[in-house]
Amino acid sequence: MSQAFGSLAGAVIVVTGGASGIGLAVAAAACSAGASGVMLADRSRAALDDATSALTDSDTKVAAQQVDVTDPAGVEELVTATLSTFGRVDGLVTSAGIEQSVPALELGEDAFDAVVGVNLKGTFLCARGFAPAMIDAGGGSIVTIGSALAFSGRVNGAHYSASKGGVVALTKSLALEWGPSAIRVNSVAPGVIDTPLASRVPEEFRAAYVSRTPLGRIGTPEDVASVARFLLSADSGYVTGQTIVVNGGFLMPS
Ligand code: NDP
Repeated sequence: MSQAFGSLAGAVIVVTGGASGIGLAVAAAACSAGASGVMLADRSRAALDDATSALTDSDTKVAAQQVDVTDPAGVEELVTATLSTFGRVDGLVTSAGIEQSVPALELGEDAFDAVVGVNLKGTFLCARGFAPAMIDAGGGSIVTIGSALAFSGRVNGAHYSASKGGVVALTKSLALEWGPSAIRVNSVAPGVIDTPLASRVPEEFRAAYVSRTPLGRIGTPEDVASVARFLLSADSGYVTGQTIVVNGGFLMPS
Protein backbone atom coordinates (compact mmCIF):
# COMPACT_ATOMS: atom_id res chain seq x y z
CA MET A 1 0.00 0.00 0.00
CA SER A 2 1.41 3.45 -0.84
CA GLN A 3 1.95 5.96 1.97
CA ALA A 4 -0.29 9.00 2.46
CA PHE A 5 0.99 12.23 0.92
CA GLY A 6 3.42 13.93 3.31
CA SER A 7 3.80 10.80 5.40
CA LEU A 8 6.64 10.79 7.93
CA ALA A 9 5.94 7.21 8.97
CA GLY A 10 8.73 5.89 11.16
CA ALA A 11 10.84 9.06 10.90
CA VAL A 12 12.66 10.85 13.72
CA ILE A 13 12.29 14.63 13.50
CA VAL A 14 14.08 17.31 15.55
CA VAL A 15 12.45 20.74 15.87
CA THR A 16 14.31 23.69 17.33
CA GLY A 17 12.02 26.37 18.71
CA GLY A 18 9.71 23.39 19.09
CA ALA A 19 8.01 24.63 22.25
CA SER A 20 6.18 27.52 20.61
CA GLY A 21 4.47 28.89 17.52
CA ILE A 22 5.60 27.50 14.19
CA GLY A 23 7.98 24.96 15.75
CA LEU A 24 5.24 23.50 17.94
CA ALA A 25 2.91 23.28 14.93
CA VAL A 26 5.66 21.48 12.98
CA ALA A 27 6.07 19.02 15.86
CA ALA A 28 2.30 18.40 15.93
CA ALA A 29 2.27 17.91 12.15
CA ALA A 30 5.13 15.41 12.43
CA CYS A 31 3.19 13.47 15.07
CA SER A 32 0.06 13.35 12.93
CA ALA A 33 2.15 12.36 9.89
CA GLY A 34 3.29 9.21 11.71
CA ALA A 35 6.76 10.16 12.91
CA SER A 36 8.07 7.57 15.34
CA GLY A 37 9.98 10.20 17.31
CA VAL A 38 9.98 13.96 17.76
CA MET A 39 12.68 15.80 19.70
CA LEU A 40 11.60 19.26 20.84
CA ALA A 41 14.51 21.65 21.39
CA ASP A 42 13.99 25.05 22.95
CA ARG A 43 15.47 27.31 25.58
CA SER A 44 12.74 27.28 28.26
CA ARG A 45 12.28 24.12 30.33
CA ALA A 46 8.75 25.15 31.33
CA ALA A 47 7.72 25.80 27.73
CA LEU A 48 9.16 22.42 26.71
CA ASP A 49 7.19 20.67 29.45
CA ASP A 50 3.95 22.35 28.31
CA ALA A 51 4.64 21.50 24.66
CA THR A 52 5.44 17.87 25.45
CA SER A 53 2.17 17.56 27.38
CA ALA A 54 0.27 19.05 24.44
CA LEU A 55 1.60 16.38 22.05
CA THR A 56 0.08 13.29 23.58
CA ASP A 57 -2.50 12.52 20.87
CA SER A 58 -0.45 10.11 18.76
CA ASP A 59 1.82 7.08 18.96
CA THR A 60 4.84 9.30 18.41
CA LYS A 61 7.44 9.27 21.18
CA VAL A 62 8.10 12.89 22.12
CA ALA A 63 11.26 13.96 23.97
CA ALA A 64 12.53 17.41 24.88
CA GLN A 65 15.95 18.96 25.34
CA GLN A 66 16.71 22.41 26.69
CA VAL A 67 19.21 24.14 24.44
CA ASP A 68 20.46 27.55 23.41
CA VAL A 69 21.04 27.14 19.68
CA THR A 70 23.84 29.73 19.76
CA ASP A 71 25.89 27.50 22.07
CA PRO A 72 27.90 24.91 20.11
CA ALA A 73 28.36 22.67 23.16
CA GLY A 74 24.63 22.75 23.85
CA VAL A 75 23.87 21.85 20.25
CA GLU A 76 26.28 18.90 20.49
CA GLU A 77 24.43 17.77 23.64
CA LEU A 78 21.17 18.00 21.70
CA VAL A 79 22.59 15.77 18.96
CA THR A 80 23.85 13.26 21.53
CA ALA A 81 20.52 13.25 23.39
CA THR A 82 18.59 12.73 20.14
CA LEU A 83 20.76 9.82 19.03
CA SER A 84 20.71 8.16 22.45
CA THR A 85 16.91 8.54 22.70
CA PHE A 86 15.92 7.62 19.15
CA GLY A 87 19.00 6.00 17.59
CA ARG A 88 18.93 8.17 14.49
CA VAL A 89 17.63 11.39 12.95
CA ASP A 90 15.81 11.77 9.62
CA GLY A 91 14.70 15.38 9.70
CA LEU A 92 15.59 18.71 11.30
CA VAL A 93 13.47 21.87 11.32
CA THR A 94 15.24 24.99 12.62
CA SER A 95 12.46 27.21 13.95
CA ALA A 96 14.28 28.82 16.91
CA GLY A 97 14.33 32.52 16.23
CA ILE A 98 14.01 36.00 17.70
CA GLU A 99 12.80 39.28 16.24
CA GLN A 100 13.32 42.89 17.33
CA SER A 101 12.32 46.27 15.93
CA VAL A 102 15.14 48.83 16.10
CA PRO A 103 15.92 51.70 13.67
CA ALA A 104 19.24 51.01 11.95
CA LEU A 105 20.85 54.20 13.30
CA GLU A 106 20.08 53.04 16.86
CA LEU A 107 20.99 49.42 16.27
CA GLY A 108 23.86 48.44 18.55
CA GLU A 109 26.31 45.66 17.91
CA ASP A 110 24.93 43.60 20.78
CA ALA A 111 21.41 43.62 19.34
CA PHE A 112 22.72 42.88 15.85
CA ASP A 113 24.83 39.98 17.12
CA ALA A 114 21.99 38.58 19.23
CA VAL A 115 19.53 38.39 16.32
CA VAL A 116 22.06 37.12 13.78
CA GLY A 117 23.41 34.74 16.45
CA VAL A 118 20.10 32.95 17.01
CA ASN A 119 18.57 33.17 13.54
CA LEU A 120 21.61 32.52 11.35
CA LYS A 121 24.44 31.07 13.44
CA GLY A 122 21.99 28.95 15.45
CA THR A 123 20.57 27.53 12.22
CA PHE A 124 24.07 26.73 10.99
CA LEU A 125 25.17 25.11 14.25
CA CYS A 126 22.12 22.84 14.33
CA ALA A 127 22.43 21.85 10.67
CA ARG A 128 26.16 21.16 11.10
CA GLY A 129 25.48 19.22 14.29
CA PHE A 130 22.91 16.83 12.81
CA ALA A 131 24.34 16.39 9.31
CA PRO A 132 26.96 13.75 10.24
CA ALA A 133 24.30 11.40 11.65
CA MET A 134 22.20 11.91 8.50
CA ILE A 135 25.23 11.23 6.30
CA ASP A 136 25.94 8.02 8.23
CA ALA A 137 22.31 6.96 7.83
CA GLY A 138 22.28 7.61 4.07
CA GLY A 139 20.44 10.92 3.98
CA GLY A 140 17.89 13.22 5.56
CA SER A 141 15.97 16.45 5.18
CA ILE A 142 16.72 19.80 6.80
CA VAL A 143 14.12 22.57 6.72
CA THR A 144 15.21 26.02 7.82
CA ILE A 145 12.64 28.65 8.79
CA GLY A 146 13.53 31.92 7.10
CA SER A 147 11.23 34.87 6.51
CA ALA A 148 9.62 36.66 3.60
CA LEU A 149 11.47 39.72 4.99
CA ALA A 150 14.67 38.17 3.58
CA PHE A 151 13.42 39.28 0.18
CA SER A 152 11.62 42.54 0.99
CA GLY A 153 13.74 43.92 3.84
CA ARG A 154 11.95 45.75 6.63
CA VAL A 155 12.08 49.22 8.13
CA ASN A 156 13.51 48.87 11.68
CA GLY A 157 14.45 45.28 10.95
CA ALA A 158 17.86 45.48 9.26
CA HIS A 159 19.40 42.86 11.54
CA TYR A 160 16.37 40.55 11.39
CA SER A 161 15.93 40.65 7.62
CA ALA A 162 19.70 40.33 7.09
CA SER A 163 19.76 37.26 9.35
CA LYS A 164 16.96 35.71 7.29
CA GLY A 165 18.66 36.58 4.00
CA GLY A 166 21.62 34.69 5.42
CA VAL A 167 19.37 31.70 6.09
CA VAL A 168 18.36 31.62 2.40
CA ALA A 169 22.01 31.61 1.28
CA LEU A 170 22.99 29.11 3.97
CA THR A 171 20.18 26.80 2.83
CA LYS A 172 21.40 26.88 -0.78
CA SER A 173 25.03 26.35 0.19
CA LEU A 174 24.31 23.37 2.46
CA ALA A 175 22.06 21.88 -0.24
CA LEU A 176 24.98 22.06 -2.68
CA GLU A 177 27.47 20.55 -0.22
CA TRP A 178 25.29 17.80 1.21
CA GLY A 179 23.19 16.83 -1.83
CA PRO A 180 25.73 14.14 -2.76
CA SER A 181 25.11 12.64 0.71
CA ALA A 182 21.34 12.59 0.01
CA ILE A 183 20.62 15.37 2.49
CA ARG A 184 18.08 17.82 1.12
CA VAL A 185 18.12 21.34 2.57
CA ASN A 186 15.18 23.67 1.95
CA SER A 187 13.65 26.69 3.63
CA VAL A 188 10.19 27.99 4.39
CA ALA A 189 9.84 31.78 4.41
CA PRO A 190 6.70 32.82 6.29
CA GLY A 191 4.86 36.12 6.06
CA VAL A 192 3.05 37.33 9.19
CA ILE A 193 2.02 34.25 11.18
CA ASP A 194 -0.09 34.32 14.32
CA THR A 195 2.43 33.26 17.00
CA PRO A 196 3.87 34.78 20.19
CA LEU A 197 6.74 36.23 18.12
CA ALA A 198 4.30 38.14 15.90
CA SER A 199 2.13 39.30 18.79
CA ARG A 200 4.19 42.50 19.01
CA VAL A 201 3.38 43.44 15.41
CA PRO A 202 1.38 46.71 15.67
CA GLU A 203 -2.30 46.44 14.77
CA GLU A 204 -1.99 49.01 11.96
CA PHE A 205 0.79 46.94 10.36
CA ARG A 206 -1.34 43.80 10.60
CA ALA A 207 -4.26 45.60 8.95
CA ALA A 208 -2.01 46.90 6.17
CA TYR A 209 -0.56 43.41 5.69
CA VAL A 210 -4.00 41.83 5.39
CA SER A 211 -5.17 44.50 2.96
CA ARG A 212 -2.24 43.72 0.62
CA THR A 213 -2.57 39.95 0.95
CA PRO A 214 -4.69 38.25 -1.74
CA LEU A 215 -5.76 35.53 0.70
CA GLY A 216 -6.96 38.28 3.06
CA ARG A 217 -5.71 37.00 6.39
CA ILE A 218 -2.74 36.55 8.71
CA GLY A 219 -1.17 33.08 8.46
CA THR A 220 -1.46 30.32 11.03
CA PRO A 221 1.41 28.20 12.38
CA GLU A 222 -0.29 25.24 10.66
CA ASP A 223 -0.01 27.01 7.27
CA VAL A 224 3.77 26.91 7.70
CA ALA A 225 3.91 23.48 9.32
CA SER A 226 2.16 21.75 6.42
CA VAL A 227 4.79 23.06 3.99
CA ALA A 228 7.61 22.04 6.34
CA ARG A 229 6.04 18.58 6.59
CA PHE A 230 6.01 18.30 2.78
CA LEU A 231 9.68 19.31 2.64
CA LEU A 232 10.55 16.75 5.33
CA SER A 233 8.72 13.98 3.51
CA ALA A 234 9.75 11.79 0.58
CA ASP A 235 7.11 13.61 -1.50
CA SER A 236 9.62 16.44 -1.96
CA GLY A 237 12.41 13.96 -2.74
CA TYR A 238 13.71 15.92 -5.78
CA VAL A 239 13.50 19.36 -4.13
CA THR A 240 16.58 20.91 -2.57
CA GLY A 241 18.11 24.36 -2.09
CA GLN A 242 14.68 25.98 -2.42
CA THR A 243 12.80 28.53 -0.35
CA ILE A 244 9.02 28.35 -0.35
CA VAL A 245 7.37 31.63 0.64
CA VAL A 246 4.23 31.08 2.74
CA ASN A 247 2.64 34.53 2.96
CA GLY A 248 -0.83 34.37 1.42
CA GLY A 249 0.53 36.07 -1.70
CA PHE A 250 1.45 39.29 0.16
CA LEU A 251 2.30 41.96 -2.36
CA MET A 252 5.09 44.48 -1.97
CA PRO A 253 4.01 48.15 -2.18
CA SER A 254 4.15 49.27 -5.82
P1 NDP B 1 7.95 31.86 18.69
O1 NDP B 1 8.54 32.92 19.54
O2 NDP B 1 6.56 31.42 18.93
O3 NDP B 1 8.89 30.56 18.69
C1 NDP B 1 10.28 30.65 18.61
C2 NDP B 1 10.87 29.75 19.66
O4 NDP B 1 12.31 29.79 19.54
C3 NDP B 1 10.53 30.22 21.08
O5 NDP B 1 10.13 29.15 21.90
C4 NDP B 1 11.85 30.83 21.55
O6 NDP B 1 12.05 30.81 22.95
C5 NDP B 1 12.84 29.90 20.86
N1 NDP B 1 14.18 30.44 20.87
C6 NDP B 1 14.56 31.74 20.74
N2 NDP B 1 15.89 31.84 20.87
C7 NDP B 1 16.37 30.59 21.10
C8 NDP B 1 17.66 30.07 21.33
N3 NDP B 1 18.75 30.86 21.37
N4 NDP B 1 17.79 28.75 21.52
C9 NDP B 1 16.71 27.94 21.49
N5 NDP B 1 15.46 28.39 21.29
C10 NDP B 1 15.28 29.70 21.10
O7 NDP B 1 8.08 32.40 17.20
P2 NDP B 1 7.56 31.82 15.80
O8 NDP B 1 7.08 30.45 15.95
O9 NDP B 1 6.72 32.86 15.19
O10 NDP B 1 8.95 31.82 15.01
C11 NDP B 1 9.55 30.65 14.53
C12 NDP B 1 10.48 31.05 13.38
O11 NDP B 1 9.67 31.60 12.33
C13 NDP B 1 11.49 32.12 13.78
O12 NDP B 1 12.72 31.80 13.16
C14 NDP B 1 10.92 33.37 13.17
O13 NDP B 1 11.92 34.30 12.85
C15 NDP B 1 10.25 32.81 11.94
N6 NDP B 1 9.22 33.68 11.38
C16 NDP B 1 8.09 33.97 12.10
C17 NDP B 1 7.14 34.81 11.55
C18 NDP B 1 5.89 35.19 12.27
O14 NDP B 1 5.16 36.08 11.80
N7 NDP B 1 5.55 34.54 13.37
C19 NDP B 1 7.32 35.42 10.22
C20 NDP B 1 8.52 35.01 9.55
C21 NDP B 1 9.43 34.18 10.13
P3 NDP B 1 11.64 32.13 23.79
O15 NDP B 1 10.14 32.19 23.76
O16 NDP B 1 12.21 31.82 25.13
O17 NDP B 1 12.28 33.29 23.11
